[in-house]
Amino acid sequence: MMDKAAKSSYDAVVVGTGVGGSTFAYGLAKRGLDVAVVERGDYFKPATKDLAPLHLHHFQSLSVVGGQTKAFGAAMYRLRESDFTATEMEAGVSPGWPISYADLEPYYCEAEKLFKVHGSSLNDATEPPRSAPWPHDPIPHQGPVQELVERVTERAGFPVSYIPRAIDYDPDNGGKCVLCRRCDAYYCPRDAKMDAEVGALRPAVQTGRVTVLTNTECLRVLTTPDGKRVTGVVLRKAGEEFTVLTGMVALGCGLRETPLVLWRSRTSAHPNGLANGSGALGRHWGAHTQGWVFPMSMGVQRKEFHQKTFAINSFYQSGPDSTQPMGVIQASGNIEPLGMSRRYRYVADWILKHSFQTFVMTEALPSKETGFSLSDDGAKTIAEPIKNKQTFSKLRRHAAKIFRSAGYRVFAPTMETNFHNVGTARMGASPAESVVNGNCKAHDVDGLFVVDSSVLPTSGALNSGLTIAAVALRAAATAHLAG
Ligand SMILES: Cc1cc2nc3c(=O)[nH]c(=O)nc-3n(C[C@H](O)[C@H](O)[C@H](O)COP(=O)(O)OP(=O)(O)OC[C@H]3O[C@@H](n4cnc5c(N)ncnc54)[C@H](O)[C@@H]3O)c2cc1C
Ligand code: SF4
Repeated sequence: MMDKAAKSSYDAVVVGTGVGGSTFAYGLAKRGLDVAVVERGDYFKPATKDLAPLHLHHFQSLSVVGGQTKAFGAAMYRLRESDFTATEMEAGVSPGWPISYADLEPYYCEAEKLFKVHGSSLNDATEPPRSAPWPHDPIPHQGPVQELVERVTERAGFPVSYIPRAIDYDPDNGGKCVLCRRCDAYYCPRDAKMDAEVGALRPAVQTGRVTVLTNTECLRVLTTPDGKRVTGVVLRKAGEEFTVLTGMVALGCGLRETPLVLWRSRTSAHPNGLANGSGALGRHWGAHTQGWVFPMSMGVQRKEFHQKTFAINSFYQSGPDSTQPMGVIQASGNIEPLGMSRRYRYVADWILKHSFQTFVMTEALPSKETGFSLSDDGAKTIAEPIKNKQTFSKLRRHAAKIFRSAGYRVFAPTMETNFHNVGTARMGASPAESVVNGNCKAHDVDGLFVVDSSVLPTSGALNSGLTIAAVALRAAATAHLAG
Protein backbone atom coordinates (compact mmCIF):
# COMPACT_ATOMS: atom_id res chain seq x y z
CA MET A 1 0.00 0.00 0.00
CA MET A 2 1.44 3.36 -1.00
CA ASP A 3 0.88 6.48 1.05
CA LYS A 4 -0.82 9.28 -0.82
CA ALA A 5 -0.03 12.89 0.05
CA ALA A 6 -2.38 14.38 2.64
CA LYS A 7 -5.18 16.55 1.30
CA SER A 8 -6.17 19.62 3.32
CA SER A 9 -9.55 18.18 4.33
CA TYR A 10 -11.44 14.87 4.66
CA ASP A 11 -14.89 13.76 5.76
CA ALA A 12 -13.17 11.99 8.68
CA VAL A 13 -9.71 11.53 10.18
CA VAL A 14 -8.99 8.29 12.03
CA VAL A 15 -5.87 8.25 14.19
CA GLY A 16 -4.12 4.91 14.79
CA THR A 17 -4.22 1.73 12.70
CA GLY A 18 -4.80 -0.76 15.52
CA VAL A 19 -7.84 -3.01 15.41
CA GLY A 20 -10.10 -0.18 16.62
CA GLY A 21 -8.89 2.53 14.22
CA SER A 22 -8.58 0.30 11.13
CA THR A 23 -11.99 -1.30 11.64
CA PHE A 24 -13.68 2.05 12.23
CA ALA A 25 -12.06 3.43 9.03
CA TYR A 26 -13.40 0.40 7.14
CA GLY A 27 -16.89 1.01 8.56
CA LEU A 28 -16.85 4.66 7.40
CA ALA A 29 -15.30 3.96 3.98
CA LYS A 30 -17.88 1.34 3.10
CA ARG A 31 -20.54 3.99 3.80
CA GLY A 32 -18.94 6.31 1.27
CA LEU A 33 -16.92 8.68 3.48
CA ASP A 34 -13.57 10.07 2.38
CA VAL A 35 -11.21 9.07 5.21
CA ALA A 36 -7.59 9.84 6.19
CA VAL A 37 -6.01 7.25 8.48
CA VAL A 38 -3.05 8.64 10.41
CA GLU A 39 -0.39 6.30 11.87
CA ARG A 40 2.77 7.39 13.63
CA GLY A 41 4.55 4.13 12.74
CA ASP A 42 5.42 2.60 9.39
CA TYR A 43 4.44 -0.65 7.67
CA PHE A 44 6.21 -3.46 9.54
CA LYS A 45 9.30 -4.47 7.58
CA PRO A 46 11.16 -7.29 9.30
CA ALA A 47 14.90 -7.59 8.75
CA THR A 48 14.62 -11.21 7.60
CA LYS A 49 12.07 -13.36 5.87
CA ASP A 50 11.88 -15.58 8.98
CA LEU A 51 9.22 -15.13 11.58
CA ALA A 52 10.50 -12.05 13.34
CA PRO A 53 10.05 -12.37 17.08
CA LEU A 54 8.76 -9.18 18.57
CA HIS A 55 10.34 -8.42 21.88
CA LEU A 56 8.04 -8.62 24.90
CA HIS A 57 8.77 -5.03 25.88
CA HIS A 58 7.31 -3.72 22.63
CA PHE A 59 4.02 -5.54 23.04
CA GLN A 60 1.84 -2.77 24.40
CA SER A 61 3.31 0.10 22.40
CA LEU A 62 3.91 -1.15 18.89
CA SER A 63 4.22 1.80 16.53
CA VAL A 64 3.53 -0.02 13.28
CA VAL A 65 0.64 -0.15 10.87
CA GLY A 66 -1.72 -2.67 12.47
CA GLY A 67 -0.68 -1.77 16.04
CA GLN A 68 -0.47 -4.59 18.57
CA THR A 69 -2.35 -7.01 16.32
CA LYS A 70 0.81 -7.35 14.21
CA ALA A 71 1.99 -9.57 17.07
CA PHE A 72 -1.32 -10.81 18.41
CA GLY A 73 -2.37 -14.42 18.84
CA ALA A 74 -5.45 -13.92 16.61
CA ALA A 75 -7.76 -15.39 19.27
CA MET A 76 -10.94 -13.49 18.46
CA TYR A 77 -13.60 -14.18 21.08
CA ARG A 78 -16.98 -12.63 21.77
CA LEU A 79 -17.47 -11.51 25.35
CA ARG A 80 -20.27 -13.36 27.13
CA GLU A 81 -23.70 -11.81 27.85
CA SER A 82 -22.93 -11.51 31.57
CA ASP A 83 -19.82 -9.41 30.84
CA PHE A 84 -22.07 -6.50 29.87
CA THR A 85 -23.86 -6.35 33.24
CA ALA A 86 -22.52 -5.41 36.68
CA THR A 87 -21.02 -8.50 38.34
CA GLU A 88 -19.91 -9.07 41.92
CA MET A 89 -16.32 -10.31 42.11
CA GLU A 90 -13.88 -11.02 44.93
CA ALA A 91 -12.22 -7.58 44.81
CA GLY A 92 -15.34 -5.53 44.04
CA VAL A 93 -17.95 -5.04 41.36
CA SER A 94 -17.13 -5.30 37.68
CA PRO A 95 -19.19 -2.41 36.27
CA GLY A 96 -21.81 -2.90 33.58
CA TRP A 97 -21.68 -1.47 30.05
CA PRO A 98 -24.06 1.13 28.58
CA ILE A 99 -24.79 -1.36 25.76
CA SER A 100 -25.82 -5.00 25.96
CA TYR A 101 -24.55 -8.12 24.24
CA ALA A 102 -27.66 -8.00 22.01
CA ASP A 103 -26.74 -4.45 20.90
CA LEU A 104 -23.31 -5.68 19.81
CA GLU A 105 -24.26 -9.09 18.40
CA PRO A 106 -24.82 -8.06 14.73
CA TYR A 107 -21.44 -6.29 14.77
CA TYR A 108 -19.74 -9.36 16.26
CA CYS A 109 -21.09 -11.24 13.21
CA GLU A 110 -19.71 -8.59 10.84
CA ALA A 111 -16.34 -8.50 12.61
CA GLU A 112 -16.03 -12.30 12.54
CA LYS A 113 -16.57 -12.24 8.77
CA LEU A 114 -14.13 -9.38 8.19
CA PHE A 115 -11.40 -11.09 10.23
CA LYS A 116 -12.15 -14.59 8.84
CA VAL A 117 -12.74 -16.07 12.28
CA HIS A 118 -12.55 -19.89 12.41
CA GLY A 119 -14.49 -21.29 15.35
CA SER A 120 -17.05 -23.62 16.84
CA SER A 121 -19.42 -23.55 19.81
CA LEU A 122 -18.66 -27.21 20.56
CA ASN A 123 -17.69 -27.98 24.17
CA ASP A 124 -18.14 -24.40 25.34
CA ALA A 125 -21.28 -23.94 27.42
CA THR A 126 -20.46 -20.23 27.82
CA GLU A 127 -20.81 -19.45 24.09
CA PRO A 128 -23.41 -16.67 23.77
CA PRO A 129 -26.27 -16.75 21.22
CA ARG A 130 -25.34 -15.90 17.64
CA SER A 131 -27.53 -14.76 14.74
CA ALA A 132 -25.17 -16.10 12.06
CA PRO A 133 -23.13 -19.29 11.89
CA TRP A 134 -19.38 -19.21 12.40
CA PRO A 135 -17.85 -17.92 9.14
CA HIS A 136 -15.31 -20.78 9.02
CA ASP A 137 -14.78 -24.19 10.63
CA PRO A 138 -12.46 -24.28 13.66
CA ILE A 139 -8.72 -24.76 13.31
CA PRO A 140 -8.15 -28.50 13.90
CA HIS A 141 -6.20 -29.66 16.93
CA GLN A 142 -2.90 -31.06 15.66
CA GLY A 143 -1.14 -34.31 16.81
CA PRO A 144 0.16 -33.62 20.33
CA VAL A 145 -2.68 -31.14 20.99
CA GLN A 146 -5.29 -33.69 19.93
CA GLU A 147 -3.75 -36.12 22.41
CA LEU A 148 -3.81 -33.50 25.18
CA VAL A 149 -7.45 -32.67 24.39
CA GLU A 150 -8.42 -36.36 24.61
CA ARG A 151 -6.55 -36.84 27.87
CA VAL A 152 -8.09 -33.74 29.48
CA THR A 153 -11.56 -34.78 28.32
CA GLU A 154 -11.31 -38.45 29.27
CA ARG A 155 -9.04 -38.47 32.31
CA ALA A 156 -9.72 -35.06 33.88
CA GLY A 157 -13.36 -34.89 32.74
CA PHE A 158 -13.29 -31.32 31.41
CA PRO A 159 -14.68 -30.23 28.02
CA VAL A 160 -12.04 -28.67 25.79
CA SER A 161 -13.20 -26.10 23.23
CA TYR A 162 -11.69 -24.54 20.11
CA ILE A 163 -10.12 -21.08 20.28
CA PRO A 164 -11.77 -18.87 17.63
CA ARG A 165 -8.87 -17.81 15.38
CA ALA A 166 -8.62 -15.00 12.86
CA ILE A 167 -6.28 -16.60 10.34
CA ASP A 168 -6.48 -17.32 6.62
CA TYR A 169 -6.48 -21.11 7.01
CA ASP A 170 -8.07 -22.99 4.13
CA PRO A 171 -5.63 -25.58 2.76
CA ASP A 172 -8.01 -26.75 -0.01
CA ASN A 173 -8.68 -23.28 -1.40
CA GLY A 174 -5.38 -21.44 -1.33
CA GLY A 175 -5.51 -20.19 2.29
CA LYS A 176 -2.13 -18.71 3.17
CA CYS A 177 -1.77 -20.05 6.72
CA VAL A 178 0.44 -23.14 7.11
CA LEU A 179 -0.28 -23.52 10.85
CA CYS A 180 3.30 -22.88 11.91
CA ARG A 181 4.34 -23.15 15.56
CA ARG A 182 4.48 -19.38 16.28
CA CYS A 183 1.77 -16.82 15.55
CA ASP A 184 1.13 -15.53 19.08
CA ALA A 185 3.69 -12.75 19.78
CA TYR A 186 5.11 -13.00 16.26
CA TYR A 187 4.61 -11.28 12.97
CA CYS A 188 3.25 -13.51 10.18
CA PRO A 189 5.51 -13.32 7.11
CA ARG A 190 2.81 -14.93 4.96
CA ASP A 191 0.22 -12.23 5.59
CA ALA A 192 -2.00 -15.06 6.77
CA LYS A 193 -2.78 -13.59 10.17
CA MET A 194 -5.87 -11.39 10.04
CA ASP A 195 -4.31 -8.55 11.97
CA ALA A 196 -5.72 -5.01 11.76
CA GLU A 197 -3.72 -4.19 8.65
CA VAL A 198 -4.60 -7.34 6.70
CA GLY A 199 -8.12 -7.82 8.06
CA ALA A 200 -9.52 -4.27 8.10
CA LEU A 201 -7.18 -1.59 6.75
CA ARG A 202 -6.59 -3.27 3.37
CA PRO A 203 -10.32 -3.78 2.71
CA ALA A 204 -10.80 -0.14 3.76
CA VAL A 205 -8.14 1.05 1.28
CA GLN A 206 -9.67 -1.15 -1.43
CA THR A 207 -12.83 0.96 -1.29
CA GLY A 208 -10.74 3.74 -2.87
CA ARG A 209 -11.88 6.18 -0.19
CA VAL A 210 -9.08 5.82 2.36
CA THR A 211 -5.69 7.55 2.43
CA VAL A 212 -3.15 6.10 4.88
CA LEU A 213 -0.62 8.61 6.23
CA THR A 214 2.23 6.69 7.85
CA ASN A 215 5.10 8.06 9.96
CA THR A 216 2.66 10.82 10.86
CA GLU A 217 1.80 11.65 14.45
CA CYS A 218 -1.38 13.32 15.61
CA LEU A 219 -0.36 16.04 18.05
CA ARG A 220 -3.82 17.31 18.92
CA VAL A 221 -7.45 17.58 17.92
CA LEU A 222 -8.84 21.03 17.06
CA THR A 223 -12.26 22.31 18.12
CA THR A 224 -14.46 25.37 17.60
CA PRO A 225 -13.80 28.27 20.04
CA ASP A 226 -16.71 27.15 22.24
CA GLY A 227 -15.22 23.66 22.31
CA LYS A 228 -18.42 22.03 21.15
CA ARG A 229 -17.38 20.66 17.76
CA VAL A 230 -14.33 19.12 16.14
CA THR A 231 -12.74 21.08 13.26
CA GLY A 232 -9.52 19.22 12.46
CA VAL A 233 -6.25 17.73 13.66
CA VAL A 234 -2.68 18.95 13.92
CA LEU A 235 -0.27 16.36 12.50
CA ARG A 236 3.51 16.09 12.37
CA LYS A 237 5.54 14.26 9.75
CA ALA A 238 9.35 14.42 9.47
CA GLY A 239 9.44 17.29 11.96
CA GLU A 240 6.89 19.40 10.07
CA GLU A 241 3.52 20.30 11.56
CA PHE A 242 0.43 20.75 9.43
CA THR A 243 -3.33 20.92 9.89
CA VAL A 244 -5.98 18.75 8.27
CA LEU A 245 -9.58 19.95 8.46
CA THR A 246 -12.46 17.58 9.13
CA GLY A 247 -15.81 17.41 10.89
CA MET A 248 -15.09 13.98 12.37
CA VAL A 249 -12.07 12.69 14.30
CA ALA A 250 -11.84 9.16 15.69
CA LEU A 251 -9.00 8.26 18.02
CA GLY A 252 -7.68 4.70 17.94
CA CYS A 253 -4.26 5.34 19.48
CA GLY A 254 -4.54 2.71 22.19
CA LEU A 255 -4.83 2.65 25.95
CA ARG A 256 -2.23 5.28 26.88
CA GLU A 257 -1.93 7.35 23.71
CA THR A 258 -5.62 8.09 23.18
CA PRO A 259 -5.93 9.83 26.58
CA LEU A 260 -2.66 11.67 25.90
CA VAL A 261 -3.88 13.04 22.56
CA LEU A 262 -7.05 14.26 24.29
CA TRP A 263 -4.99 15.77 27.10
CA ARG A 264 -2.77 17.63 24.62
CA SER A 265 -5.92 18.96 22.89
CA ARG A 266 -7.10 20.85 25.97
CA THR A 267 -8.41 24.42 25.54
CA SER A 268 -10.03 26.99 27.82
CA ALA A 269 -13.37 25.27 27.06
CA HIS A 270 -11.86 21.89 28.04
CA PRO A 271 -9.13 22.74 30.58
CA ASN A 272 -8.67 19.14 31.81
CA GLY A 273 -8.36 17.62 28.37
CA LEU A 274 -10.80 17.28 25.51
CA ALA A 275 -13.85 15.17 26.39
CA ASN A 276 -12.72 15.06 30.01
CA GLY A 277 -15.56 16.87 31.75
CA SER A 278 -15.95 13.73 33.90
CA GLY A 279 -12.31 13.41 34.97
CA ALA A 280 -12.51 9.79 33.78
CA LEU A 281 -9.84 10.24 31.09
CA GLY A 282 -6.82 8.04 31.82
CA ARG A 283 -8.68 6.31 34.70
CA HIS A 284 -10.76 3.13 35.01
CA TRP A 285 -7.90 0.99 33.68
CA GLY A 286 -9.05 -2.62 33.62
CA ALA A 287 -7.21 -5.69 32.29
CA HIS A 288 -6.71 -9.41 32.58
CA THR A 289 -4.45 -10.89 35.18
CA GLN A 290 -2.53 -13.44 33.14
CA GLY A 291 -0.17 -16.21 34.31
CA TRP A 292 1.48 -19.25 32.74
CA VAL A 293 0.83 -22.96 33.24
CA PHE A 294 3.03 -25.51 31.46
CA PRO A 295 1.84 -29.15 31.10
CA MET A 296 5.20 -30.95 30.70
CA SER A 297 5.81 -33.65 28.10
CA MET A 298 9.42 -34.61 27.38
CA GLY A 299 10.51 -33.62 23.88
CA VAL A 300 7.02 -32.61 22.77
CA GLN A 301 8.18 -29.46 20.97
CA ARG A 302 10.68 -31.38 18.84
CA LYS A 303 7.76 -31.87 16.46
CA GLU A 304 6.56 -28.86 14.49
CA PHE A 305 2.92 -28.28 15.41
CA HIS A 306 0.50 -25.42 15.97
CA GLN A 307 -0.70 -25.39 19.55
CA LYS A 308 -3.00 -22.34 19.89
CA THR A 309 -6.26 -24.18 19.28
CA PHE A 310 -7.54 -25.33 22.67
CA ALA A 311 -9.20 -23.71 25.67
CA ILE A 312 -11.10 -24.69 28.80
CA ASN A 313 -13.83 -22.16 29.58
CA SER A 314 -15.68 -24.18 32.25
CA PHE A 315 -14.65 -21.72 35.00
CA TYR A 316 -15.93 -18.62 33.21
CA GLN A 317 -19.04 -18.02 35.33
CA SER A 318 -18.04 -19.89 38.50
CA GLY A 319 -15.94 -22.79 39.77
CA PRO A 320 -16.07 -25.68 42.24
CA ASP A 321 -14.89 -23.34 45.02
CA SER A 322 -16.29 -20.05 43.76
CA THR A 323 -19.76 -18.77 42.95
CA GLN A 324 -18.13 -15.84 41.14
CA PRO A 325 -16.52 -15.72 37.68
CA MET A 326 -12.99 -17.15 37.65
CA GLY A 327 -11.67 -16.94 34.10
CA VAL A 328 -10.25 -19.10 31.33
CA ILE A 329 -7.46 -21.54 30.56
CA GLN A 330 -6.13 -21.01 27.03
CA ALA A 331 -3.30 -22.30 24.84
CA SER A 332 -0.76 -19.73 23.69
CA GLY A 333 1.55 -19.96 20.70
CA ASN A 334 5.06 -21.25 21.18
CA ILE A 335 6.76 -18.10 22.46
CA GLU A 336 10.52 -17.78 22.93
CA PRO A 337 11.60 -16.35 26.30
CA LEU A 338 13.05 -13.16 24.89
CA GLY A 339 14.38 -10.45 27.16
CA MET A 340 15.46 -12.86 29.94
CA SER A 341 18.91 -12.96 31.46
CA ARG A 342 21.11 -15.82 30.21
CA ARG A 343 20.69 -17.83 33.41
CA TYR A 344 16.90 -17.77 33.36
CA ARG A 345 16.77 -18.13 29.61
CA TYR A 346 18.53 -21.51 29.77
CA VAL A 347 15.93 -22.85 32.20
CA ALA A 348 13.06 -21.26 30.26
CA ASP A 349 14.31 -22.71 26.98
CA TRP A 350 14.39 -26.16 28.54
CA ILE A 351 10.85 -25.85 29.93
CA LEU A 352 9.49 -24.60 26.61
CA LYS A 353 11.08 -27.49 24.72
CA HIS A 354 9.38 -30.03 26.95
CA SER A 355 5.96 -28.52 27.55
CA PHE A 356 2.76 -27.17 26.07
CA GLN A 357 2.34 -23.47 26.77
CA THR A 358 -0.95 -22.36 28.28
CA PHE A 359 -2.08 -19.39 30.33
CA VAL A 360 -4.87 -18.57 32.76
CA MET A 361 -6.72 -15.25 32.71
CA THR A 362 -8.95 -13.62 35.28
CA GLU A 363 -10.60 -10.21 35.02
CA ALA A 364 -8.83 -7.40 36.92
CA LEU A 365 -11.15 -4.56 37.86
CA PRO A 366 -11.16 -0.89 36.90
CA SER A 367 -11.90 1.89 39.39
CA LYS A 368 -11.65 5.67 39.55
CA GLU A 369 -8.20 5.23 41.05
CA THR A 370 -6.74 2.76 38.52
CA GLY A 371 -5.01 4.37 35.57
CA PHE A 372 -2.63 7.12 34.65
CA SER A 373 -1.94 10.75 35.42
CA LEU A 374 -1.67 12.69 32.16
CA SER A 375 0.83 15.43 31.48
CA ASP A 376 2.76 16.83 28.55
CA ASP A 377 5.56 14.44 29.59
CA GLY A 378 3.36 11.37 29.10
CA ALA A 379 1.16 9.00 31.10
CA LYS A 380 2.39 7.92 34.55
CA THR A 381 0.82 4.96 36.33
CA ILE A 382 -1.22 5.92 39.40
CA ALA A 383 -2.59 2.47 40.20
CA GLU A 384 -2.89 -0.81 38.29
CA PRO A 385 -6.15 -2.69 37.71
CA ILE A 386 -7.43 -4.36 40.90
CA LYS A 387 -6.58 -8.05 40.89
CA ASN A 388 -8.98 -10.73 42.06
CA LYS A 389 -5.99 -12.37 43.68
CA GLN A 390 -7.48 -15.43 45.34
CA THR A 391 -9.72 -16.17 42.38
CA PHE A 392 -6.71 -16.02 40.08
CA SER A 393 -4.62 -18.32 42.33
CA LYS A 394 -7.49 -20.80 42.55
CA LEU A 395 -7.87 -20.79 38.77
CA ARG A 396 -4.16 -21.44 38.34
CA ARG A 397 -4.42 -24.35 40.81
CA HIS A 398 -7.45 -25.75 38.94
CA ALA A 399 -5.56 -25.55 35.65
CA ALA A 400 -2.57 -27.36 37.14
CA LYS A 401 -4.83 -30.01 38.66
CA ILE A 402 -6.64 -30.61 35.36
CA PHE A 403 -3.40 -31.17 33.45
CA ARG A 404 -2.05 -33.38 36.27
CA SER A 405 -5.23 -35.47 36.18
CA ALA A 406 -4.68 -35.77 32.43
CA GLY A 407 -1.30 -37.34 33.18
CA TYR A 408 1.10 -34.41 32.72
CA ARG A 409 3.60 -33.04 35.22
CA VAL A 410 2.94 -29.34 35.55
CA PHE A 411 5.07 -26.25 36.04
CA ALA A 412 2.96 -23.26 37.15
CA PRO A 413 5.18 -20.32 38.13
CA THR A 414 3.62 -17.70 40.39
CA MET A 415 4.22 -14.74 38.14
CA GLU A 416 1.50 -12.69 36.54
CA THR A 417 1.05 -9.69 34.27
CA ASN A 418 -1.66 -7.27 33.10
CA PHE A 419 -2.85 -8.12 29.63
CA HIS A 420 -5.61 -7.00 27.23
CA ASN A 421 -5.76 -3.58 28.87
CA VAL A 422 -8.94 -1.51 28.58
CA GLY A 423 -10.89 1.42 29.95
CA THR A 424 -8.93 4.71 29.95
CA ALA A 425 -11.53 6.58 27.84
CA ARG A 426 -14.43 4.44 28.85
CA MET A 427 -17.93 4.43 27.45
CA GLY A 428 -20.84 5.05 29.78
CA ALA A 429 -24.38 6.35 29.98
CA SER A 430 -23.48 9.19 32.34
CA PRO A 431 -21.36 12.14 31.10
CA ALA A 432 -20.34 12.61 34.74
CA GLU A 433 -18.57 9.24 34.85
CA SER A 434 -17.37 8.44 31.36
CA VAL A 435 -15.63 9.89 28.30
CA VAL A 436 -17.81 8.60 25.44
CA ASN A 437 -21.37 7.32 25.11
CA GLY A 438 -22.39 3.80 24.04
CA ASN A 439 -21.79 4.79 20.39
CA CYS A 440 -18.20 5.87 21.19
CA LYS A 441 -19.03 9.57 20.68
CA ALA A 442 -17.53 12.02 23.18
CA HIS A 443 -20.25 13.23 25.54
CA ASP A 444 -19.23 16.86 25.32
CA VAL A 445 -17.70 17.31 21.83
CA ASP A 446 -19.60 16.68 18.58
CA GLY A 447 -17.70 14.92 15.80
CA LEU A 448 -15.23 13.33 18.26
CA PHE A 449 -15.08 9.54 18.67
CA VAL A 450 -12.84 7.09 20.52
CA VAL A 451 -12.77 3.64 18.93
CA ASP A 452 -10.03 1.52 20.52
CA SER A 453 -9.42 -0.64 23.61
CA SER A 454 -9.67 2.43 25.83
CA VAL A 455 -13.48 2.62 25.46
CA LEU A 456 -14.17 -0.90 26.79
CA PRO A 457 -15.45 -0.42 30.39
CA THR A 458 -14.30 -3.93 31.40
CA SER A 459 -12.28 -6.77 29.93
CA GLY A 460 -14.40 -9.79 30.90
CA ALA A 461 -12.01 -12.72 30.89
CA LEU A 462 -11.65 -13.24 27.14
CA ASN A 463 -9.29 -11.68 24.59
CA SER A 464 -10.60 -8.27 23.63
CA GLY A 465 -9.70 -7.86 19.91
CA LEU A 466 -13.03 -8.97 18.42
CA THR A 467 -14.98 -6.84 20.89
CA ILE A 468 -12.88 -3.77 20.00
CA ALA A 469 -13.64 -4.45 16.31
CA ALA A 470 -17.37 -4.98 16.93
CA VAL A 471 -17.61 -1.79 19.02
CA ALA A 472 -15.79 0.13 16.25
CA LEU A 473 -18.13 -1.22 13.55
CA ARG A 474 -21.15 -0.26 15.65
CA ALA A 475 -19.68 3.21 16.23
CA ALA A 476 -19.09 3.66 12.48
CA ALA A 477 -22.69 2.70 11.75
CA THR A 478 -23.95 5.62 13.85
CA ALA A 479 -21.04 8.07 13.41
CA HIS A 480 -21.62 8.82 9.74
CA LEU A 481 -25.16 9.90 10.65
CA ALA A 482 -24.46 11.64 13.98
CA GLY A 483 -21.13 13.31 13.15
C1 LIG B 1 1.72 -10.36 21.92
C2 LIG B 1 0.28 -10.01 21.98
C3 LIG B 1 -0.67 -11.01 21.77
C4 LIG B 1 -2.02 -10.68 21.80
N1 LIG B 1 -2.93 -11.65 21.49
C5 LIG B 1 -4.24 -11.31 21.41
C6 LIG B 1 -5.18 -12.26 20.97
O1 LIG B 1 -4.86 -13.41 20.63
N2 LIG B 1 -6.48 -11.89 20.91
C7 LIG B 1 -6.88 -10.62 21.23
O2 LIG B 1 -8.09 -10.33 21.16
N3 LIG B 1 -6.00 -9.70 21.66
C8 LIG B 1 -4.69 -10.01 21.73
N4 LIG B 1 -3.79 -9.06 22.13
C9 LIG B 1 -4.29 -7.73 22.53
C10 LIG B 1 -4.74 -6.92 21.32
O3 LIG B 1 -3.77 -7.01 20.30
C11 LIG B 1 -4.97 -5.47 21.75
O4 LIG B 1 -5.91 -5.44 22.80
C12 LIG B 1 -5.53 -4.65 20.61
O5 LIG B 1 -4.80 -4.88 19.43
C13 LIG B 1 -5.53 -3.17 20.96
O6 LIG B 1 -6.00 -2.46 19.84
P1 LIG B 1 -6.20 -0.91 19.83
O7 LIG B 1 -7.10 -0.61 18.68
O8 LIG B 1 -6.62 -0.45 21.17
O9 LIG B 1 -4.82 -0.20 19.53
P2 LIG B 1 -3.28 -0.54 19.41
O10 LIG B 1 -3.05 -1.88 18.86
O11 LIG B 1 -2.61 -0.18 20.68
O12 LIG B 1 -2.86 0.50 18.25
C14 LIG B 1 -2.76 1.86 18.41
C15 LIG B 1 -2.10 2.44 17.18
O13 LIG B 1 -2.11 3.85 17.24
C16 LIG B 1 -0.85 4.37 16.85
N5 LIG B 1 -0.71 5.68 17.51
C17 LIG B 1 -0.62 5.91 18.85
N6 LIG B 1 -0.56 7.23 19.10
C18 LIG B 1 -0.59 7.86 17.89
C19 LIG B 1 -0.57 9.22 17.50
N7 LIG B 1 -0.50 10.22 18.38
N8 LIG B 1 -0.62 9.52 16.16
C20 LIG B 1 -0.70 8.52 15.24
N9 LIG B 1 -0.72 7.19 15.57
C21 LIG B 1 -0.69 6.87 16.88
C22 LIG B 1 0.14 3.32 17.31
O14 LIG B 1 1.34 3.39 16.60
C23 LIG B 1 -0.63 2.02 17.03
O15 LIG B 1 -0.42 1.56 15.72
C24 LIG B 1 -2.43 -9.35 22.09
C25 LIG B 1 -1.49 -8.35 22.31
C26 LIG B 1 -0.14 -8.67 22.23
C27 LIG B 1 0.84 -7.57 22.39
S1 SF4 C 1 -0.03 -19.91 12.25
FE1 SF4 C 1 -0.60 -19.16 10.21
S2 SF4 C 1 -1.25 -17.06 10.53
FE2 SF4 C 1 -0.10 -17.66 12.34
S3 SF4 C 1 2.02 -16.98 11.94
FE3 SF4 C 1 1.86 -19.13 11.28
S4 SF4 C 1 1.34 -19.04 9.09
FE4 SF4 C 1 0.93 -16.99 9.96
